[in-house]
Amino acid sequence: MIVYIRVSKLPARFPSLVQLGLLLAPSGEPVFSPYGRRPWMPLEQLLASGTVLPITRWGNPVLHRPCRPVTEFGPDLWNLLCDMFATNTAATGAGLAAPQIGVDLAVFVYDCLDAFDRRRQGLVCNPQITLAMEPHLDTDYEGCLSLPGAYLPVARPDFAICQGQDQFGEPISVKGTGTLARCLQHETGHLNGIVMEDHLTASERRDLRRQHKQVAVNYPDDWPASPKLSH
Ligand SMILES: [Zn+2]
Repeated sequence: MIVYIRVSKLPARFPSLVQLGLLLAPSGEPVFSPYGRRPWMPLEQLLASGTVLPITRWGNPVLHRPCRPVTEFGPDLWNLLCDMFATNTAATGAGLAAPQIGVDLAVFVYDCLDAFDRRRQGLVCNPQITLAMEPHLDTDYEGCLSLPGAYLPVARPDFAICQGQDQFGEPISVKGTGTLARCLQHETGHLNGIVMEDHLTASERRDLRRQHKQVAVNYPDDWPASPKLSH
């Protein structure tokens, strides 16, 4: 039986309570995962707690090199995921990769719609993308939270399968269509040190940078920890 306490708002450092054995099911038993006697952190709790952190910008070295694989699937990872979801929500992002909050680990979160207008939320550790042999390309506006306020049409395969691990280290496979397909590819790129402009021509890059420059004053250096300004 899966047991965990359902609460709407948890302290930001919630997993440390798990480590201390202070998180108890109504029966008084510690909370464990269905995969074995391990502390348990379901997705809804990852979504319910966390601290909004500043988003790193293009040019920061952490965004331009491959990340280290996730090897520890415990409270430290869950704390990171809580903060990533909170930061992505504050920035109204479709997805956020760990290096975008300065952490050199191969994990991303997503919260966006698929082609059927279903809201999809989740995370993938150590992602690997599989595309069709002859993919159908979809061209749509795409931006990056690490260059806020700039968007350009980018052609990407309209379907992607992303395989990796969940927050417990269990194998998962996410099938993405619509914005989710784009997001899975964009975020996996981040974890390989590839940012969106690496797919663009020189003139497109200039256009993107120009767009960002025009609105950059609205984004404090520590956005979204400090909110966007309106001018
Ligand atoms: Zn991005």
